[in-house]
Amino acid sequence: MQLPVPPREALQVAVNAPLRRLFDYLPPADRQARQVLPGARVWVPLGTRRVVGVVISQALSASREPTAAPGLPAAPELPATATAPRLKAVHEVIDAQPLLSPALMQLLQWTASYYHHPLGEVIAAALPRGLRDGAPAAAPARMLQRWRLTAAGAAAALDGSVGRAPAQRALLGWLADEPQGLTAAELAQRHSGWQRSARLLESRGYVAIHEECLQSEAPSDAENGLAGTAAVTAAPTLSSAQAEAVEAIDAAAGSFGAFVLQGATGSGKTEVYLQCATRVLARGAGVLLLVPEIALTPQLIERFRARLPGALSVLHSGLSDAERLAAWRAVHAGSARIVLGTRSAVFAPLPQLGLIIIDEEHDSSYKQQESGCRYSARDVAVVRAQQGQSPIVLGSATPALETLQNIASGRYRVLQLPRRADQAAAPLLRLIDLRAHAVHQSLAAPTLTAMRRHLQAGSQVLVFINRRGYAPTLLCTGCGWIAPCVHCDARLTVHRAQEQLRCHHCGAVEALPSRCTRCGHAVKPVGQGTERIEQTLQELFPQYPLLRLDRDTAARPAQLDQIVAQLRGGQARILVGTQMVTKGHHFPGMMLAVVLNADQGLFSSDFRAAERLAQTIVQVAGRAGRESEQGEVLIQTEYPDHPLLLSLLSGGYEAFAEEALAERRAARWPPFARLALLRASATDAQAAFEFLSAARAAAPADAHVRLLGPVSPPMARRADRYYAQLLAESADRSALHRFLDAWLTPIESLARTARVRFALDVDPLEIG
Ligand code: ADP
Ligand code: ZN
Repeated sequence: MQLPVPPREALQVAVNAPLRRLFDYLPPADRQARQVLPGARVWVPLGTRRVVGVVISQALSASREPTAAPGLPAAPELPATATAPRLKAVHEVIDAQPLLSPALMQLLQWTASYYHHPLGEVIAAALPRGLRDGAPAAAPARMLQRWRLTAAGAAAALDGSVGRAPAQRALLGWLADEPQGLTAAELAQRHSGWQRSARLLESRGYVAIHEECLQSEAPSDAENGLAGTAAVTAAPTLSSAQAEAVEAIDAAAGSFGAFVLQGATGSGKTEVYLQCATRVLARGAGVLLLVPEIALTPQLIERFRARLPGALSVLHSGLSDAERLAAWRAVHAGSARIVLGTRSAVFAPLPQLGLIIIDEEHDSSYKQQESGCRYSARDVAVVRAQQGQSPIVLGSATPALETLQNIASGRYRVLQLPRRADQAAAPLLRLIDLRAHAVHQSLAAPTLTAMRRHLQAGSQVLVFINRRGYAPTLLCTGCGWIAPCVHCDARLTVHRAQEQLRCHHCGAVEALPSRCTRCGHAVKPVGQGTERIEQTLQELFPQYPLLRLDRDTAARPAQLDQIVAQLRGGQARILVGTQMVTKGHHFPGMMLAVVLNADQGLFSSDFRAAERLAQTIVQVAGRAGRESEQGEVLIQTEYPDHPLLLSLLSGGYEAFAEEALAERRAARWPPFARLALLRASATDAQAAFEFLSAARAAAPADAHVRLLGPVSPPMARRADRYYAQLLAESADRSALHRFLDAWLTPIESLARTARVRFALDVDPLEIG
C-alpha cells in the first residue's frame, strides 16, 4: 500500500515545450505558493536547463483541483503520485503581478484545450520574444542624468574660488546658467573634454549628478510603423442601415453578442467599425480589430488612425522583436486601446476589451495552417468575446458558410448593409464561354474587345489570375518531359524574367534550361501565370501602362505602396494580379474586372474549393465600378453551365451559399459535421502511412466518430518529406473532442518510436 503523500502547496507551471502537460514546482524559498499568482512568469529548472514558465495554478500537489475555468475542458493532469516528494523549487519569480490577466489565461487555456495543443506553446506563441525570455512586463523607466552645481559650486562660480583652470571655470559657468542642469550629451556639445573637468569638480563637491525618472516608454505611432500625425477627420452621417447596425452592436455593450456585418465593398462596413469603436473608446474600454494582412490594408489603418488618433497599436508579423515588445507593453499598460493586427493579435493583452471586430472574416489567413497550434483567430475571437462578455462583429461581403450557418441557427445576428444610396448598382457579371470563342494566350476575343472598350473610354481594367510566375509548366516538345521539383510531387513554375524554375511549395530554385536535359529538344512553357499575361497584354495594348501585383512584384511593403499609388493616380491603366488585388485596395477608375481561370476552383478535391472560388469572384467583382457608374465583370470558363457559376450569376453570393450549404448538409461536411485532421510526415515514403494506420488501430472505440483514411494528400511529397493524413469526423462537437483527448495519448506514444512528425488540425480549412 502506498502511504499518502502529505499535502504540500505546489505551483503548476506551463513551459514552452511540446508536451501536453504541466509541471509541478515548489514555490521559491522566500514565498508561499499562494503568493505567486496564476499568469505570473517564473524561472524554473527543467532537466538540465533553466526556462521561463507561466504559473497556471496553485494547488496541493497531492490532491489537485481541476485547473481549467468552469465550463471549459480541464487541462491535462499529472498523475499525483510519485512526483510530489521530489519536486524542485522555482528559481525565481519574474512577475510580482500576473503578466497574463485571468481573462487572457482563460482564453489561452481554452485554445490549448480546443486545439489539443500544449498550453506552454500556446502561451509562448502569444507573447513577444522578449517576454518569452524573461524580460520585464513593463518597460524599464528611463533615467535621465543631469550634471548640476551644488550649493558650494554655485558659491564658487560666483566668487571665482575655483582657481584658474579654464575648462573647469567654463563648466561651472555653463552649469550656473542652467539651474536644471546639463546632460552628458549637452556638455559634450560644448566641450569634448568635459568629463575630466566634471570629475575634478565633483571631487571638490562643486558639481553632482541628478537623476530624474522619465515616463516609461510608450511606442509612438512612428515606432508602430505609422509615421506622422493626422488631424482628426469628421465622421459622415450614417445611412439608416449603418445607423441600425451601430445601434445594435452598441446595445450589446457589456454582454456577448455576435454580429455578422454583411455588405459589398464600399457599402460602409468600415464606417460602422469606426463609429462602434469610437463609442467603446469613449466608455474607456478597448477595441481589437483583426485584419487578414497588414500590408494589404493600409487604407483601413489610415482611416482608423485619422479618426481615432493616439490610441492605435499595430501588431503584425513584420515587426521586429523590439517593436513587438514595445507594442505589447503599450497594450498591456492600457496606453494603446485600439489594437489592429493580424491572426496572433487575437491574444493581445488588452486590459479591458469592449469590442472585437474581424474584417473579412471569411479570409483563410485567420487560420494558422503551417505550424504550431492550428487555431482559427476568428473562432478564438468569438470565444474571447463570449468569455469577456463583449460584442463581436464579423465583417464580410462573402461570409464563410460556417458563419452563414451560425446565422441560420440563430447563434449570430446578421446586419445587412445594402449598397449606399449614392452608389452605383452592383457590377454586372457575365460568363465568357472559352469553347465558343477564339482564345489568344488564355484571353478570349470578347474579353479583349471589352478591355479595349474600357481602356478607350479612359477607365482602368483588372485582370485576375491566381497564379504567379510565367507558366506553371515547362514541357519538352521532343520527349514530353515536364520539369519536376526534385523535392516535391510538383511541377516547377517558369519565372521568365529571372530565367529560373521555381517550386512554389518548397522554394527550390533552378536555372531555366533552354533544352530538355533528357533528350536535348527545345522546351516550352505551357499555361499561364501573371508574368505571361502581363507580357501578352503589353504586346496587345502597348499604349496603356500596365502593372503587375503579386508576391514577386510586391515582396516589400514599399513596392506595394508604389503600385497602389500609380493605380490610384491613374498612371497605370491595366492591373494584372493574383489574390492580392482582391484585398483592401480600392481603385476608383477600375470599371472592368476579368477572372481568367475560374475553372480551377470548380473541380477540386477539396470540399471548400467552390466556396473559395465564389468568394474570390465576388471580391474581384467588388473592384469593378465607380462610385456612380456600374462596373462590369467577365468570368472566362469552359463550363458556362456549371451550377455554381449559374447560381452566383443569377442570385449572387447568397444564392450560391444556399446551394452550397445544401450540398454540405447532404454530404455531411462542415458546418454539418466537425472535422479534425491528423497529418503525419516522414522522410521515408511508408512511415507516415504506417504511423497513421497504427494510430487508427489504437483509436478508442466511439460510435459518434468516423475515421477516414489514412490517405495520401494530392501532393504526398513536399520538401523531401512524405505526407499522409487521417480524418476524424463527427456530427457532435463534444463527442469529437472527448475522442481526440483520449486518442492523443496513444498517438503521442506511437510517435515517440516512429520517426514521424504529426500535427492535429482541428477544424481544418484544407483537407484535399
Ligand atoms: P466598406 O468597408 O464596406 O468597403 P467603407 O466604410 O470603406 O465601406 O465605405 C466606402 C466609402 O464610402 C468610403 O470612402 C467611406 O468614407 C464612404 N462612406 C461610408 N459610409 C458613408 C456615409 N454614411 N456617408 C458618406 N460616405 C460614406
Ligand atoms: Zn519543391
